[in-house]
Amino acid sequence: MILAARYIAPVESPVIENGAIRFRDATVVAVGPSKEFDVGDEERVDFGNAVITPGFVNAHTHLELTHLAERVAPSPDFTGWLTRLVKTSSESLPTKESVQRIVTDGIFQSHRAGVTTVGDITRFPAWTRQALSNSMMRAVSFGEVIAVGTRRHLLQERLAAAMKTEFESELLRCGVSPHAPYTVEPNALRECARRSVEQLTPLCIHGAETLEESEFTCEGTGVFADYLRSLGVWDDDIPIAGLAPIPLFEASGLLTDRTVLAHANYVCDDDIHCIGENRASVAYCPRTHDAFEHPPHRFRDMLDAGVNVCIGTDSLASNPSLSILDELRFLHQMFPDFNSQQLLEMGTVSGAKALGLQDRVGSLAVGKDADLAVIPMESKGDWHEMFSSATEPIAVLSRGSFVVDNR
Ligand SMILES: [Zn+2]
Repeated sequence: MILAARYIAPVESPVIENGAIRFRDATVVAVGPSKEFDVGDEERVDFGNAVITPGFVNAHTHLELTHLAERVAPSPDFTGWLTRLVKTSSESLPTKESVQRIVTDGIFQSHRAGVTTVGDITRFPAWTRQALSNSMMRAVSFGEVIAVGTRRHLLQERLAAAMKTEFESELLRCGVSPHAPYTVEPNALRECARRSVEQLTPLCIHGAETLEESEFTCEGTGVFADYLRSLGVWDDDIPIAGLAPIPLFEASGLLTDRTVLAHANYVCDDDIHCIGENRASVAYCPRTHDAFEHPPHRFRDMLDAGVNVCIGTDSLASNPSLSILDELRFLHQMFPDFNSQQLLEMGTVSGAKALGLQDRVGSLAVGKDADLAVIPMESKGDWHEMFSSATEPIAVLSRGSFVVDNR
């Protein structure tokens, strides 16, 4: 099959005007100028005034919170928001059916937005992975580990669930997510890191998300200590790490080239250097970052330091959509001088690298899987005007099959 459009943005090679892409089964076999394509009896679809991009990679999300859209408004009071989140999500007891219904809705919304790969965190790995495996969504599914205070005994049980590979497939890879430095004690962070290294498993952790996090890891005090008390999980045996989050992660062996560090909103120069040295990736969540009114994110300093910065939406509990294209458009609006090519990289190949999937997806190149999105243009302008328009993908393909087809 051949898809043609006014622009092809392969990401790892220059944008092609009047381009086409050919794939057989799931795999891309040619990308280039349309006129070089000899059609024969092959099916050919010409999308006209549109840009064909790789499928977008949402490097950080929680599909199982999709039902919380507009129910827990984010505010600068982060632990207040977390408390409301926990309360709202436990209003009804999660069941296999309810979780799978919610995750499936999240997959549907993601596909519609052109997202073909997710780094997804789940508290219910078996249920979520079954739902993912029934879809065409490519995923690294991070099983969440919480092990603090009266819940520290959950470590091995949660780790075992996270590491279980029963639903692994061509599209689904399992990973582990120690939740955050205030919900996982230092020895448990080390254990998650050790298991991840031992089994070459991807790892994701929320880190340096708020300023107060550092007070907790350094002193064991502040709003996160109050938060743990309010949940009834506090006990006096909770150890104090005595380090700020990024040094704590490094000392725990958590920063490797298989690590996605979600947020990293509060980092100093040394932290950025440390993340880069250890080749960990940062998942910046622009609209969630904005909703919590954090100071400007240092993603450009990170990029300058050679850090792999990718983009996440986080969940619908803090973000208006599961669209990476919406995140990129938001960034374009905030930073009009920022290079469009680099912007597209952050939403595609950088996410693929962060999730260890760069050999398969993230760019349009021969040998990679045919995961792609077709974005209609509003004007006859240059390809990067896709970032200043508001169009939805007209078609989305995962491994060469249409998952969205609004032709
Ligand atoms: Zn998150």
